[in-house]
Amino acid sequence: MNDTTHARIGLVAATAAGRRHADTLAAVWPQARLIEGANVADALRTAWAQCDAVVAFLATGAVVRIVAPLLDDKRTDPAVVVVDEAARHAVALLGGHAGGGNALAAQVAAVLDAQPVITTATDTVDVPGLDTLGWPVHGAVAAVSRAILDGEPVRLIADADWPLPALPPNVHATDDDSPDGGYRLLVTDRVVPADGRTAVLRPPSLVAGVGASRGVPAAEVAELLHRVLAEADLDPASLRCLASADIKADEAGIRSTADTLGVPLVTWPATRLAAVDVPHPSEVVRAAVGTPSVAEAAALLGPDGRAGDATLLVGKTATAMATVAVARHAPRGRLAVVGLGPGAADLRTPRAVTELRRAAVVVGLDQYLDQVRDVLRPGTRVLSSGLGAEEARARAAVAEAAAGRAVALIGSGDAGVYAMASPALEYADERIDVVGVPGVTAALAAGALLGAPLGHDHAYLSLSDLHTPWDVIERRVTAAAEGDFVTIFYNPRSRARDWQLGKALGILAGHRPPGTPVGVARNASRPDEQVHLATVATFDPAIVDMYSVVVVGNSDTRLVGGRMVTPRGYRWRS
Ligand code: SAH
Repeated sequence: MNDTTHARIGLVAATAAGRRHADTLAAVWPQARLIEGANVADALRTAWAQCDAVVAFLATGAVVRIVAPLLDDKRTDPAVVVVDEAARHAVALLGGHAGGGNALAAQVAAVLDAQPVITTATDTVDVPGLDTLGWPVHGAVAAVSRAILDGEPVRLIADADWPLPALPPNVHATDDDSPDGGYRLLVTDRVVPADGRTAVLRPPSLVAGVGASRGVPAAEVAELLHRVLAEADLDPASLRCLASADIKADEAGIRSTADTLGVPLVTWPATRLAAVDVPHPSEVVRAAVGTPSVAEAAALLGPDGRAGDATLLVGKTATAMATVAVARHAPRGRLAVVGLGPGAADLRTPRAVTELRRAAVVVGLDQYLDQVRDVLRPGTRVLSSGLGAEEARARAAVAEAAAGRAVALIGSGDAGVYAMASPALEYADERIDVVGVPGVTAALAAGALLGAPLGHDHAYLSLSDLHTPWDVIERRVTAAAEGDFVTIFYNPRSRARDWQLGKALGILAGHRPPGTPVGVARNASRPDEQVHLATVATFDPAIVDMYSVVVVGNSDTRLVGGRMVTPRGYRWRS
């Protein structure tokens, strides 16, 4: 993990232990360095003056006394994180929000294996449940956050069907947006008057198309943009990006306006822009740039070229050197296809957990849902189904996403390996956003248990003839045998499919020395995990069930110290 917000992090330490922790941070963060001084107070003052963040390995009292006379403005003072000698706690002491101190404390804690200590109130933290979105929140955030936590009724009023995560049950969607009905959480790009009981979440709905003459001053672009937005009652925090023509991609005035707003600049070729239907085309512009519209067409194409999802809110408005138009882009449903790993919670990726908490609807097989119920947010809708209902599950997940919701479709291992990703994406068209989260597939979990059987080319094969005719499977097994691939059998055997594994192993045995190792991993990384080793000559398929994968070595694979090893064939072998 790296701190990307701070350009210069000054480390201040008084003792050998403190210096050791400082060295640990300096080793992982290029922008962090130990600041020396005549004494520790002197070093801390130097760090304060030179850096935009300070990590001090001192007592909080000492730090408070030294920096007290230096305090000026929380928007410009450096963030200060204090860590105790034993590196148990990383305290965000100053600049928690404005200076990024809270985030820095969390990152210091992650590197040093300490606990972050954050004491700022909820005034600018995110509304509970919506913290995964990263969208700006304005207005009475503290009051509304507290109301949500206290279980008071909070109305959720959204301009459009944004795919929001699950929210606590006391937050209920409604169209009633009268300001005097208690706490409100608005999801809107419109300007909203402050009233002390309304928090406003800013969805990334707006795209400003920008055209300009060569050498346009940044101030001219920025002023025009802010004026156009204000006149249309739109909030700049909802800007998703600026958009322009490719030939304007290096126009400094446009680029620096985007940078100042903290949004990307997306540019389109003149041919793409020319194909967009706009209300105010110009032949003068066409002659100069090759498209009759830059600002309006770029606003409509937006970040991903979907003009069909967009409505032009403000037609082109010009100053001497700049032109701006604003479009609103409709939300799209979101389908996350999430692999949960082979079973153990710590083999599940952090990203999988983030996506599960980002979802309002989670779809999956009941036995996998049971593994993740503890990470789902309260209020998450769960659509579970039994084995064999893959088709229905895939359709349900896509239908929920197409209705505009945030959906997570889960599978064990990797959701793309003999699992839900392909049936789901066969139904999913370009109307929804799809996010894939890879997981540790059974073959990898088995490989790690058995040793290093996958060190050279290998093939995954499913022996389930429910989905694939047996003669196709047999042809592929033969190819893997002839190609001398290490072979991993998924779905190797069940009560109803009891002969296929023996048949497949027979084919492989015809192309391998009799002593070739065969490994079985059953319930890898689950409580009743089992490992079994044999050879192609001695292997008994009857010990295998559907909770197992079978790994057959290639002709070089051997046992070393009781572990399966497939040599990579590096030069040092010869
Ligand atoms: N998507 C899953 C595979 C689903 S097919 C993945 O990527 O792992 C189901 C088959 O996977 C099972 O019959 C078994 O062969 C294998 N499998 C899944 N999890 C396993 C585990 N923890 N241990 C051993 N085999 C497993």
